[in-house]
Amino acid sequence: MKNLRHQDPYLPGHGDRRYAVRHYDLDLQVAVVGNHLTGTARLDIEARTELDTVELDLRGLSVRKVLVGGKTAPRWRHRSGRLAVALPAKLKAGQSTTIEVGYAGNPRPVPGIHGAAGWEELSDGVTVASQPQGAPSWYPCNDYPGDKASYRVRVAADQAYRVIGNGVLKDTERRSSRTVWTYDQREPMATYLATLQIGRYAVLDLPGRGKGGPLVEVYYPARKKTGVVKTFARQREMVDVFSRLFGPYPYPVYRAVVTDDDLEIPLEAQTLTIFGLNHLEPSWENERLVAHELAHQWFGNSLTATRWQDIWLHEGFACYSEWLWSEHIGRASAARAARVHWDKIDKLPKDLVLAAPGSRLMFDDRIYKRGALTLHALRVKLGDKVFFEMLRAWTKARAHKGVDTERFISHAEGFAKRSLAPFFDKWLWRKSLPDLPS
Ligand SMILES: [Zn+2]
Repeated sequence: MKNLRHQDPYLPGHGDRRYAVRHYDLDLQVAVVGNHLTGTARLDIEARTELDTVELDLRGLSVRKVLVGGKTAPRWRHRSGRLAVALPAKLKAGQSTTIEVGYAGNPRPVPGIHGAAGWEELSDGVTVASQPQGAPSWYPCNDYPGDKASYRVRVAADQAYRVIGNGVLKDTERRSSRTVWTYDQREPMATYLATLQIGRYAVLDLPGRGKGGPLVEVYYPARKKTGVVKTFARQREMVDVFSRLFGPYPYPVYRAVVTDDDLEIPLEAQTLTIFGLNHLEPSWENERLVAHELAHQWFGNSLTATRWQDIWLHEGFACYSEWLWSEHIGRASAARAARVHWDKIDKLPKDLVLAAPGSRLMFDDRIYKRGALTLHALRVKLGDKVFFEMLRAWTKARAHKGVDTERFISHAEGFAKRSLAPFFDKWLWRKSLPDLPS
């Protein structure tokens, strides 16, 4: 793979940092029965350096045509999940063009060291959960989290099904036996956060939308209404509480989709979280997941790590949000949760560096818990007032942008008004577990 040096070492074979996609326009026809997808993707791209070819990620689907700037591409080659497109003329840094790809096939998840991810057939529908490597299973993309773009996605599917996508539903249109759904995701989105959920879903609009607050909805199999009402009873309150703690909710809408199958783990797509039937049992375990996934809308989706090694900036923050929710509802305080989890991970092997765990350990539970402990220790150090001001300023300054560990450290130091190098060094860069301040 000749462009390896332009890729994220945690996900080799994906992405190309030599250009950025500004906008994706996807026109898709989906046959749920038979699991067939026909698509046209139009990508507005901008060169970051001089370019004569562009490489896109697309796996397991056949490319039928490629246009550049509206004209047939001089050459293209699709091999090992990479679509290399020759440009008719070189692009200089800052110059733009449009690439259009026509493609089709039977989409399936992309295998990876953490398991398969991406487009998946359900018993009667489709789910897409792409973190980290699954986006190329259903559309051609520049698949790395540092390249965020706006999206417009139009999907034609059999009218028996509801199609749920990212962002705002702009339009539904009946065409004979099909319905065409158009979603607009204006705020930039990383490729792995793009999703489609297709199924026979009912919808529940959670009341209490305040001025400027998002539309909050839950999509679910109709027979599961009782479980859904119980599980998501406090979803609106959670949005309000986190908006106070972290700053305004970053999107006009927040949806939860409960698929008609069990899912191993829920997953946060942008403006939309995917749960399984198994997440409807009333328990703290499921309530904390509802809080965790919602918090990702700020930490991970609006503020996205540009490198996978910085995944603690997503998972540590989302895990700490569970503890904050626990504190809010009068369950264990965050300090108590921190003590319990410090004791637990103190008994585990100390072989993980939080800010550079390596690709195999990037979803290790210690990333979540030690990340949350780091934030709790920082809260104790700064005091509640400064800590939460710092968090709100973080989500404001970097809204819809990329983030990394170094940037977070300097942001926190700005609020501490002193160097926090020794503090972050021991929490982020050393394997041994620092003492928990109280
Ligand atoms: Zn998470």
